[in-house]
Amino acid sequence: MRTISAAASPLRRICSTPAQHASRRNFSSSYNLQATWGFIGLGRMGYNMANNLRAKIPAEDTLFVHDVNTAATKTFLEEHPQGVRVADNVREVAEKAETIITSLPEPKHVKAVFKEMLEPATLLTDGFVNKERLFIDCSTIDPMSSGEVAEAARSSGQGIFIDAPMSGGVVGAQAGTLTFMIGAAPEVVERATAVLSLMGRRVLHLGDQGAGLKGKLANNYLLALNNIATAEAMSMGIKWGLDPKALAGMINISTGKCWPSEVNNPVPGVIEGSPASRGYEGGFGVALANKDLKLALKAAAEADVKLALGEPAAALYEAAENDANCKGKDFSVVYRYLGGKE
Ligand code: NAD
Repeated sequence: MRTISAAASPLRRICSTPAQHASRRNFSSSYNLQATWGFIGLGRMGYNMANNLRAKIPAEDTLFVHDVNTAATKTFLEEHPQGVRVADNVREVAEKAETIITSLPEPKHVKAVFKEMLEPATLLTDGFVNKERLFIDCSTIDPMSSGEVAEAARSSGQGIFIDAPMSGGVVGAQAGTLTFMIGAAPEVVERATAVLSLMGRRVLHLGDQGAGLKGKLANNYLLALNNIATAEAMSMGIKWGLDPKALAGMINISTGKCWPSEVNNPVPGVIEGSPASRGYEGGFGVALANKDLKLALKAAAEADVKLALGEPAAALYEAAENDANCKGKDFSVVYRYLGGKE
Protein backbone atom coordinates (compact mmCIF):
# COMPACT_ATOMS: atom_id res chain seq x y z
CA MET A 1 0.00 0.00 0.00
CA ARG A 2 1.22 3.47 -0.78
CA THR A 3 0.24 6.47 1.33
CA ILE A 4 0.32 9.69 -0.56
CA SER A 5 0.17 12.85 1.48
CA ALA A 6 -1.51 16.02 0.28
CA ALA A 7 0.65 17.90 -2.18
CA ALA A 8 1.33 21.52 -1.35
CA SER A 9 -0.11 22.80 -4.59
CA PRO A 10 -1.90 19.93 -6.30
CA LEU A 11 -3.84 22.07 -8.73
CA ARG A 12 -0.88 23.13 -10.74
CA ARG A 13 -0.41 19.50 -11.70
CA ILE A 14 -4.07 19.06 -12.51
CA CYS A 15 -4.33 22.26 -14.46
CA SER A 16 -1.30 21.22 -16.45
CA THR A 17 0.28 23.34 -19.12
CA PRO A 18 -0.73 26.69 -20.61
CA ALA A 19 -1.09 24.96 -23.98
CA GLN A 20 -3.68 22.61 -22.54
CA HIS A 21 -5.56 25.52 -20.97
CA ALA A 22 -5.69 27.25 -24.30
CA SER A 23 -7.02 24.20 -26.08
CA ARG A 24 -9.67 23.72 -23.44
CA ARG A 25 -10.91 27.26 -23.80
CA ASN A 26 -11.68 26.53 -27.44
CA PHE A 27 -14.50 24.26 -26.38
CA SER A 28 -16.61 26.86 -24.68
CA SER A 29 -17.78 30.28 -25.54
CA SER A 30 -20.15 30.62 -22.58
CA TYR A 31 -17.70 30.45 -19.67
CA ASN A 32 -14.08 31.16 -19.08
CA LEU A 33 -12.99 27.57 -18.77
CA GLN A 34 -9.77 27.04 -16.93
CA ALA A 35 -10.81 23.72 -15.52
CA THR A 36 -14.23 22.21 -15.07
CA TRP A 37 -15.27 20.06 -12.17
CA GLY A 38 -18.39 18.08 -11.39
CA PHE A 39 -19.88 16.96 -8.09
CA ILE A 40 -22.91 14.68 -7.90
CA GLY A 41 -24.60 13.93 -4.58
CA LEU A 42 -24.70 16.87 -2.20
CA GLY A 43 -25.72 14.84 0.86
CA ARG A 44 -24.28 14.77 4.36
CA MET A 45 -20.80 13.99 3.05
CA GLY A 46 -20.95 15.38 -0.47
CA TYR A 47 -22.21 18.84 0.42
CA ASN A 48 -19.25 19.44 2.71
CA MET A 49 -16.78 17.89 0.28
CA ALA A 50 -18.05 20.07 -2.56
CA ASN A 51 -17.69 23.08 -0.25
CA ASN A 52 -14.03 22.28 0.30
CA LEU A 53 -13.49 21.56 -3.37
CA ARG A 54 -14.99 24.90 -4.40
CA ALA A 55 -12.92 26.71 -1.77
CA LYS A 56 -9.63 25.18 -2.95
CA ILE A 57 -9.86 25.17 -6.74
CA PRO A 58 -8.89 28.36 -8.55
CA ALA A 59 -11.59 31.04 -8.54
CA GLU A 60 -11.80 30.97 -12.35
CA ASP A 61 -12.60 27.24 -12.48
CA THR A 62 -16.22 26.13 -12.74
CA LEU A 63 -17.86 23.53 -10.51
CA PHE A 64 -21.00 21.86 -11.90
CA VAL A 65 -23.17 20.29 -9.20
CA HIS A 66 -26.21 18.07 -9.29
CA ASP A 67 -28.44 16.34 -6.77
CA VAL A 68 -31.97 15.00 -7.16
CA ASN A 69 -32.67 16.97 -3.99
CA THR A 70 -32.99 20.43 -5.52
CA ALA A 71 -33.03 22.07 -2.08
CA ALA A 72 -29.39 20.98 -1.67
CA THR A 73 -28.23 22.43 -5.00
CA LYS A 74 -30.21 25.64 -4.39
CA THR A 75 -28.54 26.17 -1.00
CA PHE A 76 -25.14 25.32 -2.46
CA LEU A 77 -25.56 27.88 -5.22
CA GLU A 78 -26.69 30.51 -2.71
CA GLU A 79 -23.60 29.84 -0.63
CA HIS A 80 -21.34 29.94 -3.70
CA PRO A 81 -22.65 32.55 -6.10
CA GLN A 82 -19.33 32.56 -7.98
CA GLY A 83 -17.92 29.64 -9.93
CA VAL A 84 -20.79 27.19 -9.41
CA ARG A 85 -23.41 26.05 -11.93
CA VAL A 86 -26.30 23.74 -11.10
CA ALA A 87 -26.64 21.13 -13.83
CA ASP A 88 -30.14 20.04 -14.80
CA ASN A 89 -29.10 16.39 -14.85
CA VAL A 90 -26.04 14.19 -14.45
CA ARG A 91 -25.48 13.91 -18.19
CA GLU A 92 -24.93 17.65 -18.26
CA VAL A 93 -22.30 17.29 -15.54
CA ALA A 94 -20.54 14.61 -17.59
CA GLU A 95 -20.67 16.74 -20.72
CA LYS A 96 -19.27 19.87 -19.10
CA ALA A 97 -16.84 18.65 -16.46
CA GLU A 98 -13.51 16.98 -16.87
CA THR A 99 -13.13 15.67 -13.32
CA ILE A 100 -16.30 14.31 -11.75
CA ILE A 101 -16.77 13.23 -8.14
CA THR A 102 -19.75 11.20 -6.99
CA SER A 103 -20.93 10.63 -3.42
CA LEU A 104 -24.11 8.58 -3.60
CA PRO A 105 -25.96 6.33 -1.17
CA GLU A 106 -26.03 2.83 -2.67
CA PRO A 107 -24.95 0.70 -5.65
CA LYS A 108 -28.26 1.23 -7.46
CA HIS A 109 -27.79 5.02 -7.35
CA VAL A 110 -24.20 4.81 -8.61
CA LYS A 111 -25.19 2.47 -11.47
CA ALA A 112 -28.11 4.67 -12.52
CA VAL A 113 -26.08 7.88 -12.40
CA PHE A 114 -23.24 6.40 -14.48
CA LYS A 115 -25.61 4.88 -17.03
CA GLU A 116 -27.05 8.32 -17.60
CA MET A 117 -23.61 9.95 -17.72
CA LEU A 118 -22.03 7.42 -20.08
CA GLU A 119 -24.88 6.81 -22.56
CA PRO A 120 -24.80 7.67 -25.39
CA ALA A 121 -21.02 7.28 -25.62
CA THR A 122 -20.49 10.66 -27.22
CA LEU A 123 -19.03 12.68 -24.35
CA LEU A 124 -15.71 13.28 -26.06
CA THR A 125 -17.23 14.27 -29.38
CA ASP A 126 -20.42 16.12 -28.39
CA GLY A 127 -19.45 17.27 -24.89
CA PHE A 128 -18.01 20.68 -24.02
CA VAL A 129 -14.65 19.12 -23.15
CA ASN A 130 -12.94 16.65 -25.48
CA LYS A 131 -10.72 15.07 -22.83
CA GLU A 132 -11.12 11.69 -21.26
CA ARG A 133 -13.02 12.16 -18.00
CA LEU A 134 -11.72 11.20 -14.58
CA PHE A 135 -14.60 9.78 -12.54
CA ILE A 136 -13.91 9.47 -8.81
CA ASP A 137 -16.61 7.59 -6.94
CA CYS A 138 -16.47 8.15 -3.18
CA SER A 139 -19.63 6.15 -2.43
CA THR A 140 -19.40 3.00 -0.33
CA ILE A 141 -20.74 0.29 -2.62
CA ASP A 142 -19.78 -3.32 -3.40
CA PRO A 143 -16.65 -3.89 -5.50
CA MET A 144 -18.56 -5.84 -8.17
CA SER A 145 -20.99 -3.00 -8.92
CA SER A 146 -18.07 -0.56 -8.91
CA GLY A 147 -16.20 -2.79 -11.36
CA GLU A 148 -19.18 -2.87 -13.74
CA VAL A 149 -19.29 0.93 -13.81
CA ALA A 150 -15.51 1.16 -14.28
CA GLU A 151 -15.76 -1.22 -17.22
CA ALA A 152 -18.57 0.82 -18.79
CA ALA A 153 -16.42 3.96 -18.58
CA ARG A 154 -13.37 2.16 -19.96
CA SER A 155 -15.03 0.21 -22.77
CA SER A 156 -16.92 3.25 -24.02
CA GLY A 157 -13.60 5.12 -24.21
CA GLN A 158 -14.99 8.09 -22.33
CA GLY A 159 -13.00 8.06 -19.15
CA ILE A 160 -11.28 6.44 -16.23
CA PHE A 161 -13.31 5.42 -13.22
CA ILE A 162 -11.72 4.90 -9.83
CA ASP A 163 -13.19 3.93 -6.47
CA ALA A 164 -12.31 6.19 -3.57
CA PRO A 165 -14.45 5.34 -0.57
CA MET A 166 -13.79 7.49 2.44
CA SER A 167 -13.63 7.46 6.20
CA GLY A 168 -13.79 10.31 8.66
CA GLY A 169 -17.54 10.91 8.70
CA VAL A 170 -19.39 14.18 8.35
CA VAL A 171 -16.98 15.91 10.72
CA GLY A 172 -14.04 14.92 8.51
CA ALA A 173 -15.93 15.99 5.40
CA GLN A 174 -16.55 19.42 6.93
CA ALA A 175 -12.97 19.84 8.10
CA GLY A 176 -11.45 18.46 4.89
CA THR A 177 -9.65 15.76 6.85
CA LEU A 178 -11.13 12.65 5.24
CA THR A 179 -9.10 9.55 4.44
CA PHE A 180 -9.68 8.11 0.98
CA MET A 181 -8.88 4.50 0.11
CA ILE A 182 -8.42 4.33 -3.61
CA GLY A 183 -8.50 1.60 -6.19
CA ALA A 184 -6.86 2.88 -9.34
CA ALA A 185 -4.34 2.04 -12.04
CA PRO A 186 -0.87 3.35 -11.07
CA GLU A 187 -0.83 5.99 -13.81
CA VAL A 188 -3.91 7.74 -12.45
CA VAL A 189 -2.92 7.76 -8.78
CA GLU A 190 -1.07 11.07 -8.81
CA ARG A 191 -3.90 12.95 -10.50
CA ALA A 192 -6.56 11.37 -8.27
CA THR A 193 -4.50 12.10 -5.16
CA ALA A 194 -4.20 15.74 -6.13
CA VAL A 195 -7.99 15.99 -6.47
CA LEU A 196 -8.84 14.08 -3.30
CA SER A 197 -6.31 16.06 -1.28
CA LEU A 198 -8.58 19.06 -1.78
CA MET A 199 -11.18 17.27 0.36
CA GLY A 200 -9.14 15.09 2.65
CA ARG A 201 -5.87 14.60 4.47
CA ARG A 202 -4.81 11.12 3.42
CA VAL A 203 -5.07 9.10 0.23
CA LEU A 204 -4.21 5.42 0.49
CA HIS A 205 -3.66 3.61 -2.78
CA LEU A 206 -4.56 -0.03 -2.14
CA GLY A 207 -4.29 -1.41 -5.67
CA ASP A 208 -6.17 -1.50 -8.95
CA GLN A 209 -9.78 -0.45 -9.44
CA GLY A 210 -11.97 -1.99 -6.72
CA ALA A 211 -9.17 -2.23 -4.16
CA GLY A 212 -10.27 0.87 -2.26
CA LEU A 213 -13.71 -0.60 -1.67
CA LYS A 214 -12.32 -3.98 -0.67
CA GLY A 215 -10.11 -2.31 1.95
CA LYS A 216 -12.94 -0.12 3.20
CA LEU A 217 -15.38 -3.05 3.52
CA ALA A 218 -12.84 -5.27 5.29
CA ASN A 219 -12.17 -2.49 7.78
CA ASN A 220 -15.84 -1.76 8.36
CA TYR A 221 -16.58 -5.46 8.81
CA LEU A 222 -14.02 -5.54 11.60
CA LEU A 223 -15.37 -2.31 13.07
CA ALA A 224 -18.94 -3.65 13.09
CA LEU A 225 -17.84 -6.76 14.98
CA ASN A 226 -15.56 -4.91 17.39
CA ASN A 227 -18.44 -2.59 18.22
CA ILE A 228 -20.72 -5.48 19.19
CA ALA A 229 -17.95 -7.28 21.08
CA THR A 230 -17.13 -4.12 23.04
CA ALA A 231 -20.79 -3.59 23.91
CA GLU A 232 -21.08 -7.19 25.13
CA ALA A 233 -17.82 -7.11 27.11
CA MET A 234 -18.69 -3.79 28.76
CA SER A 235 -22.19 -5.00 29.56
CA MET A 236 -20.92 -8.21 31.11
CA GLY A 237 -18.31 -6.44 33.27
CA ILE A 238 -20.75 -3.78 34.47
CA LYS A 239 -23.42 -6.35 35.35
CA TRP A 240 -20.76 -8.27 37.31
CA GLY A 241 -20.33 -5.09 39.34
CA LEU A 242 -17.25 -3.52 37.76
CA ASP A 243 -16.95 0.25 37.47
CA PRO A 244 -17.47 1.20 33.78
CA LYS A 245 -14.54 3.63 33.57
CA ALA A 246 -12.19 1.28 35.41
CA LEU A 247 -13.16 -1.57 33.10
CA ALA A 248 -12.70 0.53 29.95
CA GLY A 249 -9.37 1.85 31.27
CA MET A 250 -8.14 -1.67 31.87
CA ILE A 251 -9.28 -2.93 28.44
CA ASN A 252 -7.63 0.02 26.76
CA ILE A 253 -4.18 -0.94 28.02
CA SER A 254 -4.87 -4.63 27.40
CA THR A 255 -5.38 -6.96 24.47
CA GLY A 256 -9.07 -6.21 24.01
CA LYS A 257 -8.36 -2.61 23.06
CA CYS A 258 -10.00 -1.42 19.83
CA TRP A 259 -11.50 1.76 18.40
CA PRO A 260 -14.97 1.12 19.89
CA SER A 261 -13.48 0.52 23.36
CA GLU A 262 -11.04 3.40 23.25
CA VAL A 263 -12.61 6.18 21.19
CA ASN A 264 -16.28 5.35 20.78
CA ASN A 265 -17.02 3.39 23.93
CA PRO A 266 -20.70 2.39 23.85
CA VAL A 267 -21.33 2.97 27.57
CA PRO A 268 -22.68 6.43 28.43
CA GLY A 269 -20.30 8.45 30.61
CA VAL A 270 -17.17 6.41 29.94
CA ILE A 271 -15.80 8.80 27.31
CA GLU A 272 -16.76 12.43 27.55
CA GLY A 273 -18.20 13.74 24.27
CA SER A 274 -18.68 10.31 22.71
CA PRO A 275 -22.02 9.61 20.98
CA ALA A 276 -22.97 7.29 23.89
CA SER A 277 -22.46 10.16 26.32
CA ARG A 278 -24.88 12.37 24.41
CA GLY A 279 -27.79 9.99 23.96
CA TYR A 280 -26.09 8.16 21.06
CA GLU A 281 -26.60 11.19 18.84
CA GLY A 282 -24.26 11.93 15.90
CA GLY A 283 -21.41 9.63 14.97
CA PHE A 284 -21.62 6.65 12.62
CA GLY A 285 -25.29 5.80 12.16
CA VAL A 286 -26.53 2.29 12.87
CA ALA A 287 -28.07 2.24 9.38
CA LEU A 288 -24.70 3.00 7.75
CA ALA A 289 -22.97 0.31 9.83
CA ASN A 290 -25.68 -2.11 8.74
CA LYS A 291 -25.32 -1.08 5.11
CA ASP A 292 -21.53 -1.48 5.07
CA LEU A 293 -21.73 -4.84 6.83
CA LYS A 294 -24.21 -6.15 4.27
CA LEU A 295 -21.98 -4.95 1.42
CA ALA A 296 -19.03 -6.74 3.02
CA LEU A 297 -21.06 -9.95 3.38
CA LYS A 298 -22.17 -9.76 -0.26
CA ALA A 299 -18.60 -9.23 -1.50
CA ALA A 300 -17.30 -11.98 0.79
CA ALA A 301 -19.91 -14.44 -0.52
CA GLU A 302 -18.91 -13.59 -4.10
CA ALA A 303 -15.30 -14.44 -3.26
CA ASP A 304 -16.34 -17.61 -1.37
CA VAL A 305 -15.01 -16.33 1.95
CA LYS A 306 -16.23 -18.26 4.98
CA LEU A 307 -17.40 -15.96 7.78
CA ALA A 308 -18.57 -17.15 11.18
CA LEU A 309 -19.69 -13.87 12.72
CA GLY A 310 -21.03 -11.80 9.82
CA GLU A 311 -24.61 -13.08 9.65
CA PRO A 312 -25.45 -12.82 13.37
CA ALA A 313 -23.87 -9.36 13.46
CA ALA A 314 -25.94 -8.23 10.47
CA ALA A 315 -29.10 -9.57 12.14
CA LEU A 316 -28.28 -7.58 15.26
CA TYR A 317 -27.75 -4.31 13.36
CA GLU A 318 -30.92 -4.93 11.38
CA ALA A 319 -32.89 -5.39 14.61
CA ALA A 320 -31.30 -2.32 16.21
CA GLU A 321 -32.06 -0.22 13.14
CA ASN A 322 -35.72 -1.20 13.43
CA ASP A 323 -35.93 -0.61 17.18
CA ALA A 324 -37.61 2.68 18.12
CA ASN A 325 -35.04 3.31 20.89
CA CYS A 326 -32.06 2.81 18.58
CA LYS A 327 -33.16 3.96 15.13
CA GLY A 328 -31.13 6.84 13.69
CA LYS A 329 -28.55 6.69 16.51
CA ASP A 330 -24.81 6.09 16.51
CA PHE A 331 -23.98 2.42 15.95
CA SER A 332 -22.68 2.09 19.53
CA VAL A 333 -26.37 2.06 20.45
CA VAL A 334 -26.18 -1.74 20.09
CA TYR A 335 -25.13 -1.57 23.78
CA ARG A 336 -28.60 -0.22 24.56
CA TYR A 337 -30.24 -2.73 22.22
CA LEU A 338 -28.50 -5.55 24.11
CA GLY A 339 -29.90 -4.26 27.39
CA GLY A 340 -26.67 -2.72 28.68
CA LYS A 341 -26.92 -0.74 31.91
CA GLU A 342 -27.10 3.02 31.14
P1 NAD B 1 -26.62 10.98 1.86
O1 NAD B 1 -27.77 10.06 1.70
O2 NAD B 1 -26.68 12.03 2.92
O3 NAD B 1 -26.30 11.73 0.48
C1 NAD B 1 -26.44 11.16 -0.79
C2 NAD B 1 -26.94 12.24 -1.74
O4 NAD B 1 -27.07 11.65 -3.04
C3 NAD B 1 -28.32 12.79 -1.35
O5 NAD B 1 -28.26 14.21 -1.29
C4 NAD B 1 -29.22 12.31 -2.49
O6 NAD B 1 -30.28 13.20 -2.78
C5 NAD B 1 -28.24 12.21 -3.62
N1 NAD B 1 -28.69 11.34 -4.71
C6 NAD B 1 -29.28 10.12 -4.62
N2 NAD B 1 -29.55 9.66 -5.85
C7 NAD B 1 -29.12 10.58 -6.74
C8 NAD B 1 -29.13 10.68 -8.16
N3 NAD B 1 -29.64 9.71 -8.90
N4 NAD B 1 -28.61 11.77 -8.71
C9 NAD B 1 -28.11 12.77 -7.97
N5 NAD B 1 -28.07 12.75 -6.62
C10 NAD B 1 -28.58 11.67 -6.02
O7 NAD B 1 -25.36 10.04 2.07
P2 NAD B 1 -23.97 10.43 2.76
O8 NAD B 1 -24.05 10.20 4.22
O9 NAD B 1 -23.53 11.75 2.24
O10 NAD B 1 -23.02 9.27 2.18
C11 NAD B 1 -22.63 9.22 0.82
C12 NAD B 1 -21.79 7.97 0.62
O11 NAD B 1 -20.66 8.03 1.47
C13 NAD B 1 -22.53 6.68 0.99
O12 NAD B 1 -22.19 5.67 0.07
C14 NAD B 1 -22.05 6.38 2.38
O13 NAD B 1 -22.09 4.99 2.70
C15 NAD B 1 -20.63 6.90 2.34
N6 NAD B 1 -20.09 7.33 3.63
C16 NAD B 1 -20.84 8.04 4.50
C17 NAD B 1 -20.30 8.43 5.72
C18 NAD B 1 -21.12 9.22 6.74
O14 NAD B 1 -20.67 9.36 7.88
N7 NAD B 1 -22.27 9.78 6.37
C19 NAD B 1 -18.98 8.11 6.04
C20 NAD B 1 -18.21 7.41 5.10
C21 NAD B 1 -18.78 7.02 3.90
